[in-house]
Amino acid sequence: MIPVCICGGCGRTIEKEFVYCPWCGLSKITAMTEDDKMEQIFNRLEKMQKDSRDEKIEKMTTKLDDLKRELDSMVLCSEMHK
Ligand SMILES: [Zn+2]
Repeated sequence: MIPVCICGGCGRTIEKEFVYCPWCGLSKITAMTEDDKMEQIFNRLEKMQKDSRDEKIEKMTTKLDDLKRELDSMVLCSEMHK
């Protein structure tokens, strides 16, 4: 059996050794670039997810800081009333 792969341009089966698709003339190098593009998109999505996670953590930290400050002032207030 001949090793085959799917053309990224027309979706037809082409022999793996072929550099260009005999059906639509698309270079397999171009098809590989399409894969790279997909990987880039996935990487960007992953980065966006990470960024939003970092943002959430940052917001939580700010909230915690606020709470701590509030608590400190409450403690200070009660000590003043002793
Ligand atoms: Zn093709």
